[in-house]
Amino acid sequence: MSDVLQALIDALGEDGVMHGEAVADRATSYWDAAPTQAVAVLRPRSTAEVSTALAICHRFGQPVVTQGGLTGCVQGAVASRQEVILSLERMNAIEAIDAVGGTATVQAGVTLQALQEAARAQDLLFALDLGARGSCTIGGNVATNAGGINVLRYGMMRALVLGLEAVLADGTVLSSMNQMLKNNAGYDLKQLMIGTEGTLGIVTRVVVRLHPLPSSCNAALVALESFDQVTTLLSRMQRDLAGTLSAYEVMWNEYFQASTEPGAHRAPMDRDYPFYVMLQAEGADAAADSARFERLLEDAFEAGLIVDAVVPKSESERRALWELRENFEAMLHGRTTFLYDVSLPIREMAGYVAEVRANIAERWPQARCIVFGHMADGNLHLFVQPEADGAAHADSDAAVYGPLRSRHGSVSAEHGIGTEKMDWLGVCRSEVEIGMMRALKQALDPKGLLNPGRIFTAG
Ligand SMILES: Cc1cc2nc3c(=O)[nH]c(=O)nc-3n(C[C@H](O)[C@H](O)[C@H](O)COP(=O)(O)OP(=O)(O)OC[C@H]3O[C@@H](n4cnc5c(N)ncnc54)[C@H](O)[C@@H]3O)c2cc1C
Repeated sequence: MSDVLQALIDALGEDGVMHGEAVADRATSYWDAAPTQAVAVLRPRSTAEVSTALAICHRFGQPVVTQGGLTGCVQGAVASRQEVILSLERMNAIEAIDAVGGTATVQAGVTLQALQEAARAQDLLFALDLGARGSCTIGGNVATNAGGINVLRYGMMRALVLGLEAVLADGTVLSSMNQMLKNNAGYDLKQLMIGTEGTLGIVTRVVVRLHPLPSSCNAALVALESFDQVTTLLSRMQRDLAGTLSAYEVMWNEYFQASTEPGAHRAPMDRDYPFYVMLQAEGADAAADSARFERLLEDAFEAGLIVDAVVPKSESERRALWELRENFEAMLHGRTTFLYDVSLPIREMAGYVAEVRANIAERWPQARCIVFGHMADGNLHLFVQPEADGAAHADSDAAVYGPLRSRHGSVSAEHGIGTEKMDWLGVCRSEVEIGMMRALKQALDPKGLLNPGRIFTAG
């Protein structure tokens, strides 16, 4: 047994350090069932234990990879044989909910769904929401600055974090557990940990903002014939729903076709419309809100903006409609799929999608290019399903990322860079920006031990 492993076991105890065969019993990630590779998996129970573990790793020059719920899409939490994993899985307490102040204080390993449910039990809303809610953790949401389906109204994770505690590479604890909406006393240090994918510190505790729980929820799946109609409907709904529009999810025809193919979901309407939008508004006056929502849908019909609509009559019908958008496992099954998460100005989207499709069709005439996403946030997801060959991934990346350059888009709207998108960071970040990122990494983690080789290479 190596000296560093022995020192970690001495400090955290046998049950705090998995090693040997127990490591390989764990799946690599949500996306990859292959056995985990790592020197060991550390499972601390407190910030103090995280600090002790990192101080030991720092002393031995041992690289560490942080793991939350392992649902991340860019392989940032996937370790190599030479790395130690630090998992937050045993730090999953909801420490406090302050109903008056509208805050929750949690350990970083709590799942998003557990926090949502705890808030709801007190008539409060934790507004972040995404398909991986049952597995992803608040620490992972912070580290990736997660987005999801409510960004339009409540912002990304960054807008929901009031304070946090993190452990730096040498074991120093940075406690910045602010609970106020306003605090301009010097640098806002929590921002160093939000969206930096665990490269600057390990988040151990978080204070998040809660909102009043909406008491009305109106949703509809609508069909539209052109992208112009999709953007016009968005503008109208944003204006006429007066800030209560919480989701506006667009699906291009190929997505809807794939989502409703045999073995997947039941199609609630004709499958041949060019565009589908799942929209949802949440408010505080059930009767008035649903009357207004229905009237706006009727107006949209009369104006020729929408050509078909399904309005759920019950909570289970509403959930079934959301399944079409959120549960896309069936369309990935048994096919080589490359997943993308890009952002660009809404006015550029139609041209961008056409260019990507042309690029893909030229390379693989039979490929599927499935497009959908959080359009109101400028965020599209693409699934490219090419005929598999050796160079497929790199060629597909070039087809999807290349057209972003001239449109001033981003290669990552929500998921981060991890190891998967490193080669493409320069499409949307300048040399100066990347240089500044390196300077921050050097200042906080000079030995390059935390999530090394993620986002950018050292030096
Ligand atoms: C079905 C599905 C739907 C999804 N939908 C969305 C979506 O709509 N929007 C969206 O943004 N994402 C989405 N994702 C991606 C993923 O859920 C998010 O990136 C999520 O925030 C990752 O959380 P996690 O706990 O699983 O983190 P992990 O996957 O474990 O880790 C992700 C990154 O964060 C780092 N990290 C994890 N915990 C910590 C910590 N405590 N301190 C420091 N660094 C840490 C890891 O090292 C890694 O770099 C989806 C994923 C799936 C599987």
